[in-house]
Amino acid sequence: MDSFINYGKQDITEDDVNAVIAALKSEHLTQGPVVPMFEQLLAEYCDVQFATATNSATSALHISCLALDLQAGDWLWTTAISFVASSNCALYCGAKVDFVDINPTTNNICALKLKEKLELAEKENLLPKIIVAVHLCGLPAEMKDIKELSDKYGFSIIEDASHAIGAEYLSDKVGNCKFSDITVFSFHPVKIITTGEGGAALTKNSKLHNRLQLLRSHGITRDHLEMVNPVNQSWYYEQIELGFNYRMTDIQAALGISQLGRIDSYIEKRHQIAKMYKEQLNDLPIEFPTTESIRQYSSLHLYVIKVNIEYRDFIFESLKNDNIGANLHYIPIYQHPYYRNLDTLYKPLENAEKYYKSAITIPLHPKIKDDEILRITSSIRAAMK
Ligand SMILES: *Cc1c(COP(=O)(O)O)cnc(C)c1O
Repeated sequence: MDSFINYGKQDITEDDVNAVIAALKSEHLTQGPVVPMFEQLLAEYCDVQFATATNSATSALHISCLALDLQAGDWLWTTAISFVASSNCALYCGAKVDFVDINPTTNNICALKLKEKLELAEKENLLPKIIVAVHLCGLPAEMKDIKELSDKYGFSIIEDASHAIGAEYLSDKVGNCKFSDITVFSFHPVKIITTGEGGAALTKNSKLHNRLQLLRSHGITRDHLEMVNPVNQSWYYEQIELGFNYRMTDIQAALGISQLGRIDSYIEKRHQIAKMYKEQLNDLPIEFPTTESIRQYSSLHLYVIKVNIEYRDFIFESLKNDNIGANLHYIPIYQHPYYRNLDTLYKPLENAEKYYKSAITIPLHPKIKDDEILRITSSIRAAMK
């Protein structure tokens, strides 16, 4: 049997290992000097002022919602096609969630559907406080359109860029927050770069940044200017909000710093593999993902092809039999039993449902070899015969 090909996978070099060992042998294990160094490098890479590293993107999304004052009774809207963390963050805050349909070309939140939904919500006084725009598979969402709507309707914007570090929108790196309040990254091992577990929240707003830093660490401050009753003692600190322990460790940050320098070369490799897929499968009735456009350059975190439903199960079956890890990103969030049991009634969204019936994620990561690509494409070809 040929060896198993996973749909995504981390790449750990000797340098990564040495960076982690150095952190292990240093004074600090948890957040010490390496975390702020990682934050600074991350901010520089994205050309943004501030970054807060966290223990996951999920926790970064949670404190981003809190920093933007999302409260019980408020609404957060996001795309129906994403990982559940994109919407769970609202539920952690006691807020309500609703979903916007996707654009069938980009598979991202559809700016036009969003506009229509906002017009209706305004009449009923049910406007959202936050929109979470997800850059699905690494292809940036139409941020300019979403920002224009936010100027009109007053909601805040979080970019869930868990898939999209290194991607570009209007020739700028995702994460510069030109069209959003906060951008969140994930460093889970299947993502573009990894810290084991880890995430970050980036912003150009210093007030938001201060709150993110506070909420990451119990709501505790050692800054006299923030204190309610400042006491001039070195041991004194105050808890001024209800925060969490969402800190990243120095061990993780050391791995992150070591990986950071390889983002662009990883993405280049991902584009080469995508090109191979297209060359190999071009004659088949397959819809290939957008890898770039005038406005976007995808980080290609995931490679999702779309096929007619009658082929789909055959392809999954064939890939499974050939020891290839296909996947489905994602089930519409509102279909999950937990969401069905919420008070909000979710009607199926047309494009999201169509996507769900046609999508297949085939393996894409920088370590895939050419012969493995051929194994994958032959397996798909055989299934579509
Ligand atoms: C992976 C992922 C997350 C969560 O990331 P973690 O770091 O595992 O918490 C959130 N949103 C999207 C779209 C993701 O793919």
